[in-house]
Amino acid sequence: MIIKNGKVALPGKDELSPVDIRVVDGKIAELGEDLTGDDEIIEARGMIVLPGGIDPHVHFDDPGFTDREDFYHGSCCSASGGITTVIDMPCTSIPPVTDLDNLREKLGVIEKKAVIDFGLFGGISPQSMAGGYPDNFRELSELVLGFKTYFISVMEFFSALNHFQFRGVLEKAKELGAIILLHAEDLSYVNAATDYYMKRGKAPIDYYRSRPEAAEVLAVANAVELAEEVGGDLHIVHVSTARAAEIIASSSVTCETEPHYLQFDIDDFIRLGSPLKTTPPVKKPGNKERLWQYLSDGRINFVASDHAPCPASGKETASIWTDYAGFPGSGTLLPYLFSEGYMKGRLSLRRLVEVASENAARRYGLYPRKGAIEVGTDGDLVLIDPDRTWTVEGEKFLSKGHITPFEGMELKGRVIRTIVRGTTVYDADRGIRVEGGYGRFLTGP
Ligand SMILES: [Zn+2]
Repeated sequence: MIIKNGKVALPGKDELSPVDIRVVDGKIAELGEDLTGDDEIIEARGMIVLPGGIDPHVHFDDPGFTDREDFYHGSCCSASGGITTVIDMPCTSIPPVTDLDNLREKLGVIEKKAVIDFGLFGGISPQSMAGGYPDNFRELSELVLGFKTYFISVMEFFSALNHFQFRGVLEKAKELGAIILLHAEDLSYVNAATDYYMKRGKAPIDYYRSRPEAAEVLAVANAVELAEEVGGDLHIVHVSTARAAEIIASSSVTCETEPHYLQFDIDDFIRLGSPLKTTPPVKKPGNKERLWQYLSDGRINFVASDHAPCPASGKETASIWTDYAGFPGSGTLLPYLFSEGYMKGRLSLRRLVEVASENAARRYGLYPRKGAIEVGTDGDLVLIDPDRTWTVEGEKFLSKGHITPFEGMELKGRVIRTIVRGTTVYDADRGIRVEGGYGRFLTGP
């Protein structure tokens, strides 16, 4: 395959480069001008070519919760938004990925469904540690890209770690050379505030008040302190508060944010209601501007979607307390960053590539195989037409979920083609071009 006449985002460059890309046997074999001599020529004139997006935080719910999402629909949705690699969370499937047998069981199901490449996170909860770590924990740690943990959780089979348990987990992970990921909201604050505000209302503002800025900042400060003391390798997922990002940036801990925290605030939550219910919730005005700034200056490492759809009924329970938290976000992740970050001048080209692809690949040991357009790396590419404006319509999502807070938003830059290892997996005119099972399981270095 040769991708001809596109403007290409090469690693570390702030200007687009007019080079052709030759992909042979799934790998980038040559970058140069006027390449010829291949059967398959992809004309990319007028288009921007980026390394395939990496969405390092999705809940594809498979197996176990496939009424909400499955690996086929989830990965198709990602592909339609220029994502070529996802990393799936361990806790929203049955069984959860807490030991090697569970991982194999899950892999046996999802390997047949993925249309793009994927990695998995393992999980550690009080339940999974009840009898000590599983015998095969080291083997598990070599197959997963990190371990997800929670300071607060409503999941019956995957509950929160207390600070003492969390310290032990950081020590164990250090011994194994593993990364710990944390959902950081303070249990004691949120539980008490939830009791209090549940009695007073069932509107978005009540839910926000149960998990305000302080709930995240307290948890992040505690987690950072423990990680620094232990020397553990910690990553905080879905940071929604500017102050939390500042605390993380002053330490060796890394973090991600999500498009909804960059785009929306509590006023939007009051207006939109349930479609924008996420955990953590969006915060007060002022946070999102600073999150953009920190994303641009490097204090926030990368962006993920936290893709978590549900059937429409899950968003229509007539109470914000019981409505499902989450929405399908993997298909809008890269288009959002391209339109609102790069096209609006908030992110340089180089920074767009870093936060949408390269940095997650580096953090989880997939670089340089993933995350860069360089000779020898996987031929994972996305072609974007920067002149096409389109409107987000949840009904057209390839996910099982169709409710999005981005509904009706106009984005500049349309994904025209998504290529994984030299094969077109999605094109804008014809849709998904491969069967489930094309996607490969990725392990660390
Ligand atoms: Zn999540």
